Amino acid sequence: MIAIDTVLVKLASRCNLDCDYCYIYRMGNDTWRRQPKLMSDQTISAMACSLAALVENQSHPLSVVFHGGEPLMVGTARFEAACAELRTHLPPSVGLHVQTNGLLLTDEVIDVCARYDVGISVSIDGPAEVHDRHRPDVRGRKSHAAVTAAIGRVLAHPQGRSLLSGLLSVIDLQSDPADVYEFFKSIGTPSVDFLYRDGNHDALPIGKASIVSTEYGDWMIRLLDVYLADPNPIRIRLLDDMMRLILGGRSVKEGVGQDDYGILVVETDGTITKNDTLKSADGADKFAQTWTVHDDLIALVRSVAFSEYHWAQRPSAAVCLACPELRICGGGMPTHRWSAIRGLNNPSVFCADQKRLIEHMRDQIAIRTAA
Ligand code: SF4
Repeated sequence: MIAIDTVLVKLASRCNLDCDYCYIYRMGNDTWRRQPKLMSDQTISAMACSLAALVENQSHPLSVVFHGGEPLMVGTARFEAACAELRTHLPPSVGLHVQTNGLLLTDEVIDVCARYDVGISVSIDGPAEVHDRHRPDVRGRKSHAAVTAAIGRVLAHPQGRSLLSGLLSVIDLQSDPADVYEFFKSIGTPSVDFLYRDGNHDALPIGKASIVSTEYGDWMIRLLDVYLADPNPIRIRLLDDMMRLILGGRSVKEGVGQDDYGILVVETDGTITKNDTLKSADGADKFAQTWTVHDDLIALVRSVAFSEYHWAQRPSAAVCLACPELRICGGGMPTHRWSAIRGLNNPSVFCADQKRLIEHMRDQIAIRTAA
């Protein structure tokens, strides 16, 4: 049976921010409107039982990530109930995490995370002028001050440093990577992960002039140079993964490298879907058959449809299969390969960016290992 690494749980289908790059609300897919706003207690209980049966059938470690929308819109009481229900049914080895925009990350919520050992990751794009360009609240108000205050609350909590698994930042090409890096260092986070703006061959990511231009690769090279020059760096997961791959190791997350990841999403009504980043690829996140948390998830994972979805992570484009950098790049995220005409049978829209970044990384590693 294919192992499941990550289950993304949509405790809420709405968000209290209105980020201009959001792949759920801003890329032409409005299926979220038909979902209940919040996951019910009954759905949470059914999900906990079905995940317990799934975990019993695999030796591979599983992580459950509360996701959204904004998961904390479910309210502190139901958030705690969800944590308690999952901790009751799942073995302690299962990791629980919450990916939040931070606006509702109160001391009470942080206490809940500490009680149930829930890792916290906060989405923030950098200094105020960068973050507030793209992440206003639903009334158009700036959110940076509230988010940095929330990160401060986590770090001030007695268990906060072990709870904060890191920050998640979407790249703004208008920003200076050095300023963004210094900001993240200044707020005391142990790590930060960077995401490219979503896009595909029919709708290029914001800031990318053409399929052969390298704006994202150039931005990442500037970030890498700052990172490598820092004698006491914070961790940057994407750069670390890529350099580890160049040195012969493995990645830890989808998007680079050739490892396959078993990912399922639970919507607020209990429906199971594929990785929700595929929403921006013409709604390709849905299985043809409707599966829910009331079904046998082992049967789902053993189904042909799941296998097809799972193996579609591997690139199929001839240019990728012949590429000398395939082991590092991995062909990119499936959603970044998509086009209406060829489906996922394309290289990543970030192909030129990744090639440029990998070349620079190889040069930097060679310089340092020769010194
Ligand atoms: S997307 Fe480009 S760099 Fe990546 S494997 Fe495919 S051809 Fe190579």
